[in-house]
Amino acid sequence: MFYTKNSGMYILQVIMTWLIFVVIPNINSFGYSKKGQHLWPQKYKSCAGKLQSPIAISTSKAIPLSLPALEMIGYHDFLPMPQIFANNGQTIKLAMNKNVTYGRLPYIFGAIFKQNQQYEMEQLHFHWGIKNNRGAEHVLNGIRYPMEMHIVHRNIAYSNFSHALQHEDGVAVIAVFFQLQDEQNELLQSLVSKLPDVQWAHLELSVNISITLASLIPLNTDIYYIYKGSLTTPPCSEAVTWIIFATPVPISFRQMNTFRILSNGEEILGDNFRRLQDIGQRKIYIRRLVQSSLRVPSGLSIKQDDSRWNFSNLSWFWS
Ligand SMILES: [Zn+2]
Repeated sequence: MFYTKNSGMYILQVIMTWLIFVVIPNINSFGYSKKGQHLWPQKYKSCAGKLQSPIAISTSKAIPLSLPALEMIGYHDFLPMPQIFANNGQTIKLAMNKNVTYGRLPYIFGAIFKQNQQYEMEQLHFHWGIKNNRGAEHVLNGIRYPMEMHIVHRNIAYSNFSHALQHEDGVAVIAVFFQLQDEQNELLQSLVSKLPDVQWAHLELSVNISITLASLIPLNTDIYYIYKGSLTTPPCSEAVTWIIFATPVPISFRQMNTFRILSNGEEILGDNFRRLQDIGQRKIYIRRLVQSSLRVPSGLSIKQDDSRWNFSNLSWFWS
């Protein structure tokens, strides 16, 4: 009798495990095929909004702005350990573990952000192509790079990420392009060498990767583009201030191909980029490096930024 009861329990457990294993990955599933992306707005209304990302950026059409530098605090420190390293079937993600108490996480401020607003790193992930001629989400001056990384930050004024997604100033994403070269980029190796550990979809590991965010972004961060947009994956929340570095980071063909051995559960994980969205009425700004207008003696006539785009009062950006 005990035996029968235990067998029943065992079978129930097997079924429960099976249910959990199958159901969880499918809750947030969405497809990147043309048809699949077309279906996003049916389930997620924001995906049909007017402030969607990604977009095509052209330097000649961007409005030059003498913005303060983007301040990146903790970017030169190793990311706190342990981190979560996951293949969720749609991307590879390196994230902070919600159940671990860390010290201060890397954060950003300055640029176009309101005074006293800080954005703390939540996670980073990648979008890449199965072929070299595609992969990045944003297109820069007609160039589609083979990969784009997103470092996602939450405005610390909001207690958690879902809360932040409900506010236009809730999230800041730093986008970095990758450009192929023959030589290996040693700075990427600690992360790239871990990729085979998450080859299979819906794998989530606790890892101790010694990596700094500075090693994943370009050396030159002076020039960046800024615009208001959305998450590029469902629920497509229009809560994102995009900061896109103009300079790409090098990656070797071999390192790039390591991303292309990963599985999405059915086939090779890749081509996980959203199609371009309409810019609509939006403006794209490019940070311009000029002698600070503060140092120009009054009365001297020097061509300055149009007062409409004055960075000392950014209410026009946030209104
Ligand atoms: Zn992304």
